[in-house]
Amino acid sequence: MDFLKAVSEPAPLQGKAYFFIFSENDILVKETADNRVSIPLIEERSIAKMKLTGSHFLGTINQIPCYCAHLFSENLPDRYKLMNLRALYGRVDNGFWSLSGYARQIHDWNMNFKFCGRCGAKTHKKENEYARECSQCNLISYPRISPAIITAVVKDRQLLLARGINFPNKKMFSVLAGFVEPGESLEACIKREIFEEVGIKVKNIQYFKSQSWPFPDSLMIGFTAEYESGRLLIDTNEIVEADWFDAQTLPLVPGKQALAGELIEWFVQTHGNRSTPSSD
Ligand SMILES: [Zn+2]
Repeated sequence: MDFLKAVSEPAPLQGKAYFFIFSENDILVKETADNRVSIPLIEERSIAKMKLTGSHFLGTINQIPCYCAHLFSENLPDRYKLMNLRALYGRVDNGFWSLSGYARQIHDWNMNFKFCGRCGAKTHKKENEYARECSQCNLISYPRISPAIITAVVKDRQLLLARGINFPNKKMFSVLAGFVEPGESLEACIKREIFEEVGIKVKNIQYFKSQSWPFPDSLMIGFTAEYESGRLLIDTNEIVEADWFDAQTLPLVPGKQALAGELIEWFVQTHGNRSTPSSD
């Protein structure tokens, strides 16, 4: 799938277009025969019936326009349903999964920044870039991205995993993560977060990879690090329990669609060979 991002709509919509349509935490999908779903490819004349608002152009897939929009109607056409965006993973091609996350963030930003944060006047979308400008004071706001670090800390041949207080699954453990604060480098953020949450100092921080995570607007930046010093002392406001685990005796951990799962898989591949229980 070749998605070509574009800010401005080249011409008014004629024919079919892909619509990434959101309602609360859900996205509208069309059921297909093989128990999979697809992003709706909708005829222009059908769109008016669906009571969409806040439609924004995103770009094109093979010259077919793509839009995000908000759904207010509860009456869905046959074979259409709402499903949680997280649950969409694995049900559509990865390209459409990534694009759904992008569409979600552009949709949310346009919904949440209709008014200026400085003077309260209405904002409007700029023509030539993804930005909203205040009609009174000209303050410009851009789509919000919240950088967060996520780190696999290894001591000898064991991985540091913790169970966060807000994890929906009470048996799930994961590697430590936290939001970057103003004025902070990624390395400083890693050292601060890990020390604050579990009382451990780390060294030899190495970049792993990054992932856009649209729940709601994170950019997850993954690292590996080595234990330097300290004893596990958890911050009970954030962590329920934390411990060091062998590759062979991991608890329930996130699936590989999340960067956390990829980091844990990296640990298993480099520190042990047995398969892990996973939430996939
Ligand atoms: Zn303003």
